[in-house]
Amino acid sequence: VTATYTTRLTAQRRLSPSIVELRLERPAGFAFSAGQSIAVHHRLGTRDYSLASGVDEPELILCIRRMPGRGVSDALFGLTPGETVRFSGPNGYFTYRPGSRPALWVATGTGIAPFRSMARSGRQCRLCLHGVADPDENLYTDELRRASGDYTLCLSRPAEPAADRFDGRVTSFLERHWPPGRYDLYLCGRQEMVRDVTLLVDRRFAGSRVFSEVFF
Ligand SMILES: Cc1cc2nc3c(=O)[nH]c(=O)nc-3n(C[C@H](O)[C@H](O)[C@H](O)COP(=O)(O)OP(=O)(O)OC[C@H]3O[C@@H](n4cnc5c(N)ncnc54)[C@H](O)[C@@H]3O)c2cc1C
Repeated sequence: VTATYTTRLTAQRRLSPSIVELRLERPAGFAFSAGQSIAVHHRLGTRDYSLASGVDEPELILCIRRMPGRGVSDALFGLTPGETVRFSGPNGYFTYRPGSRPALWVATGTGIAPFRSMARSGRQCRLCLHGVADPDENLYTDELRRASGDYTLCLSRPAEPAADRFDGRVTSFLERHWPPGRYDLYLCGRQEMVRDVTLLVDRRFAGSRVFSEVFF
């Protein structure tokens, strides 16, 4: 059931120069499924954010990229502990679907948030791909590794070579390094990524199921 809540920021920390993690007191009676989002109501407007915390954890965690300007993310980036946050939810259908096919989790940027919630809620995947522009945006790597058969950080911009990451987009990784087959693909983040991977499914992973959440 969607309801509106008023809660408080308990902590905030920088995960990278432009990504902040916000911890909110979890209102009594607020329940959600891993993968769902909330709508944060700010005086500048309402924006959706995926929950990054586990379904049984005492706090709600958001992971927000600051888009410089005068937008909501910029304002949330500057919140300090103790301040009030109003939100409604939970929203969305980007949740685990029972099935026998191996799950592939594919995210770009802060699109990793719902997968972190799934990992913290005991879900596992065969492969987790996280596409980022900068290596310092390798959010929640250890937890995701533990929940994944394979985990690969994919760098869309050239960087120093390193053994544990892939130089290129998540789509190129799937195309070049992942065996054809039938999977349950969970895609979250940029619209272009969701589109490109969905197009690849027809050629390489025919018969797979695709579930997606587009952030922008
Ligand atoms: C279901 C859903 C869940 C979402 N979950 C998250 C989340 O967990 N974390 C998060 O950071 N954002 C998330 N977003 C995006 C978020 O709702 C806002 O759009 C974002 O914070 C920008 O809002 P703004 O008011 O600051 O800027 P606006 O002026 O509204 O947007 C500025 C531009 O920023 C770009 N943009 C928006 N979001 C991102 C992003 N995450 N990364 C890079 N570029 C972006 C878009 O091109 C947009 O046009 C989600 C969106 C949806 C629909």
